[in-house]
Amino acid sequence: NLPRKNDTCNNNHTQSIEAAKGDFVTRRQRIQQQRKSLPIASVEKLLVEEVRNNNTLIVVGETGSGKTTQLPQYLFYGGFCRDGGVIGITQPRRVAAVSVAKRVAEECGVALGQKVGYAIRFDDMTSASTRIKYMTDGLLLREALLDPCLSKYSVIIVDEAHERTVHTDVLLGLLKSVQKTRSSVSKVMNGHAQNGLLMGAENDKSFLMPCHGKKLSPLKLIIMSASLDARVFSEYFGSARAVHVQGRQYLVDILYTHQPESDYLDAALITIFQIHLEESHGDILVFLTGQEEIESVERLVHERLRQLPEGNQKLLTFPIFSSLPSEKQMKVFMPAPPGFRKVILATNIAETSVTIPGIRYVIDPGVVKARIYDADAGIESLDIVKTSKAQALQRSGRAGREGPGKCYRLYPESEFDKFEDSTTPEIKRCDLSNVILQLKALGIDDIAGFDFIDKPNRTAIIRSLESLFLLGALTEESKLTDIVGHQMARLPLEPVYSKALILSSQFNCLEEMLIVVAMLSVESIFYAPREKLEESRAALRCFSSPEGDHLTLLNVFRASNEFVVKNKLTHSKEKAEKNLRKWCKDNFINSRSLRHARDVHSQIQRNVEQMGLRITSCGDDMLVFRRCLAASFFLNAALKQPDGMYRILSSGLMVQIHPSSVLFRSKPECIIFDKLVRTNNNYIRNICRIDYLWLPELAPQCYGLR
Ligand code: ADP
Ligand code: MG
Repeated sequence: NLPRKNDTCNNNHTQSIEAAKGDFVTRRQRIQQQRKSLPIASVEKLLVEEVRNNNTLIVVGETGSGKTTQLPQYLFYGGFCRDGGVIGITQPRRVAAVSVAKRVAEECGVALGQKVGYAIRFDDMTSASTRIKYMTDGLLLREALLDPCLSKYSVIIVDEAHERTVHTDVLLGLLKSVQKTRSSVSKVMNGHAQNGLLMGAENDKSFLMPCHGKKLSPLKLIIMSASLDARVFSEYFGSARAVHVQGRQYLVDILYTHQPESDYLDAALITIFQIHLEESHGDILVFLTGQEEIESVERLVHERLRQLPEGNQKLLTFPIFSSLPSEKQMKVFMPAPPGFRKVILATNIAETSVTIPGIRYVIDPGVVKARIYDADAGIESLDIVKTSKAQALQRSGRAGREGPGKCYRLYPESEFDKFEDSTTPEIKRCDLSNVILQLKALGIDDIAGFDFIDKPNRTAIIRSLESLFLLGALTEESKLTDIVGHQMARLPLEPVYSKALILSSQFNCLEEMLIVVAMLSVESIFYAPREKLEESRAALRCFSSPEGDHLTLLNVFRASNEFVVKNKLTHSKEKAEKNLRKWCKDNFINSRSLRHARDVHSQIQRNVEQMGLRITSCGDDMLVFRRCLAASFFLNAALKQPDGMYRILSSGLMVQIHPSSVLFRSKPECIIFDKLVRTNNNYIRNICRIDYLWLPELAPQCYGLR
């Protein structure tokens, strides 16, 4: 009875399953233990009771206490999904939605996308069986367009409400209204069946909602915030009850610089190595403002590391920012191998949205990238601005989660005293076109009369209405236009990008515009490391178009596509991907960004196909394409001045071309640009040369003779 070959195989297989099970059990046990030790665990029963007894509840608790990961699970087991209802949890940031969903799926021992899932723009990981659904606040707003009663949700948790993103603020107003409607619907339903349109609750003047006669339970609404001041939310929701979850916080030593730092990236770099070489074990968290900064600091760390003696090289970097591919995001949560120290290079995401274990040192340059709207000029820009005191406090708190820690503020203490107490809600400092478009599509016409938690500035509303009118989305009476307005509201893009797509189908260059809009939707396609400036410039020249950055981006995308197609024929998927990464590296293209752009491209292609737009190409006739750009981005047209600066025609603002643009040197007479970015200068990025005379022809509503 010799064992046959098959048997041995089976035996080995069984053994490995047993081994895996062993790992699995211990890991699961460890996770269960971690869950039980979270501060929120001691109030599980109380929280479930509170939600049962109150339709609206405010939950306040320090970052890391377990709000985001635990409360949805408590509610699930507390029976809030019993009739097939879904618990929706909104996050201001994509990364948070994804990483938390993954964690919770693991805690529940289920595959992601089944019971626990996430949905963010361009990436839906949910199924019919999903009951705990993490998503961005913007995405839930979009869902409301298709289902104004949000009927599939039994509970909605608005998380990170203290961030006061514009989407969160609009959502809060909308949910307040939905809640009233659903309460009144369910009362009516108890009496007799009702069909068609239902009016919102008595005092709710503007809201008509098609609830299609569904039987709806009242909507449970939970507002979660890390800021201890719950008053503003409680008052907004008619003195809603607030529950405080006690957190744990160890002492954090705060260190300031003597002098202001002129280059905070360099200061951050020096501090990283100072900690690494002089301080005891513990990971480092560095707050930076965006992908570009993170990637450049990451390169510099690696470069300096190579110059250290071998024994001192045990430092690993982990970036985390919103467009990082999701499998990479989870790496920051893994403990460093023994003897190694982790440096996490993060955007504001790590301030309150995600808690990474192991942090003992925080480096805080005291700046953040924020949307700023100049209502008089009608121009939004992305600016690097000082944090508020509240933000600085949250950041330093991240060092004291598991034991005493240190926070290195890269500015003098006198600076801190000058910070604002708290951050201004985004709705008071952003372009409102997108929000207005969505509210209009929801049937809410009276924007100024909408029940905002904080009213946006009147001039900003008027400005945004004006630009939507100029883009053809609104009529003179500020109603959504029949075709263009509705189409623009349906596309998950900024209004001007949607406009460009819609127009390009008429100009016969939708194929090109899809590519360009996708490429413009991601941060930094090119990178130029300081030590290889010449090489990277030479690489860029292979793609660059004398007409500008849009066409250059188009060339890059097409070249990458050609490369992918060729590779797919001869290589496996993994090998093809690896080759593409190498191709990117050789050409100084950011492979993460390119990959993101390719994802966005396939999504918006699907969107426009669903809308019935015809995808055709203008072939080599790039004049057509540039005219289409002019016809869409006319609000961002600028004219060269004798001193080489540019004047934005619609506002008179003086700006200059960013050095990264392919038109930085040639400086054409008339251009359109994509974005204004302000640091010390007013820089415009992504520029295309146009003809001045096209403006009155293609955008007479803005430049016509009156
Ligand atoms: P809060 O929402 O109150 O800030 P969270 O629910 O986000 O708290 O986090 C609770 C705990 O879960 C934290 O200690 C955090 O470190 C841990 N945690 C969250 N995500 C992960 C992950 N992917 N891996 C390991 N631990 C995680
Ligand atoms: Mg949280």
